[in-house]
Amino acid sequence: MQRTGTIFDIKHFAVHDGPGIRTTVFLKGCPLSCLWCHNPESISRQPQLLFTPRKCIGCGYCVDTCPRGAHKLVDGRHVIDRESCAACGACAEGCYAGALEMAGRQVAVDEVMDEVLRDRTFHTNSGGGMTLSGGEPLAQRGFSLALLRAAKTEGLHTALDTSGFAPWELLEELLPHTDLVLYDLKHMDPERHAALTGVPNELILDNLCRLDSTGSPIWIRIPLIPGQNDDDPNYHSLGELLSHLENVDRVEILKYHRLAESKYESAGMEYALKGLVPPSSEELESRRQILMNHGLKESLLR
Ligand code: SF4
Ligand code: SF4
Repeated sequence: MQRTGTIFDIKHFAVHDGPGIRTTVFLKGCPLSCLWCHNPESISRQPQLLFTPRKCIGCGYCVDTCPRGAHKLVDGRHVIDRESCAACGACAEGCYAGALEMAGRQVAVDEVMDEVLRDRTFHTNSGGGMTLSGGEPLAQRGFSLALLRAAKTEGLHTALDTSGFAPWELLEELLPHTDLVLYDLKHMDPERHAALTGVPNELILDNLCRLDSTGSPIWIRIPLIPGQNDDDPNYHSLGELLSHLENVDRVEILKYHRLAESKYESAGMEYALKGLVPPSSEELESRRQILMNHGLKESLLR
């Protein structure tokens, strides 16, 4: 079993990634590239350098340190040649202003579990546990399996947050060690799904039906992205699909927000949805209503 993997964060006291208070481990690497991804630093499997210009005090440490000459201060402006960066992390280590950070580090299962188990009292008192998120945990199958097994050995509740875009056998292998699957649905139309996320949705929908037939508890998560996947036909198709599933304990419609915009700048990535306005409460309510018209119980909707 794979005892090491790449993560980019461990979030303590998470309250939106399953029941109770949770410790969420974010794995790096995802086969999707959703236009609205709020963790753009999770997409690449490789560690990467993040730079926040407003924090830079122009000390020049990184310029002197980088063996590849990737940093330059030009007319008071900090310029990074990302093509030259080998993600060694040397500049970030000495940037005391916190303008440079590395996203992604190799860790061992035991190291992660030590950190997760620091929250054990909160897990126990709240009915919480450990959640694997990302990125896509199925993209690091062996590491995810080892983490879930270790958590179960410690008696923790485990949740797996997945896009479902992986061969069924990978998901199936993790299920005996997973108490809850958080399953994302982005769009029901295959072409729109591919345009929005970079991959088609047939495998995702097929895996969801298989998952449902195993009896595993499922929470469905649907991002609500104005102008991208909030149209009536999509919600009618979602409602139709949900009406045929038997083990869905919760459906969450996640309102788009703009908090991730600055992360794209830090990672040197283009943000395709710049300026997009989050949906109103009325819009959210009208989407909920469509799902309920297809028979979804209000008590399951969040
Ligand atoms: S080390 Fe940090 S604060 Fe100093 S110039 Fe580089 S990015 Fe700016
Ligand atoms: S991470 Fe390493 S290679 Fe990349 S800019 Fe910093 S010092 Fe240079």
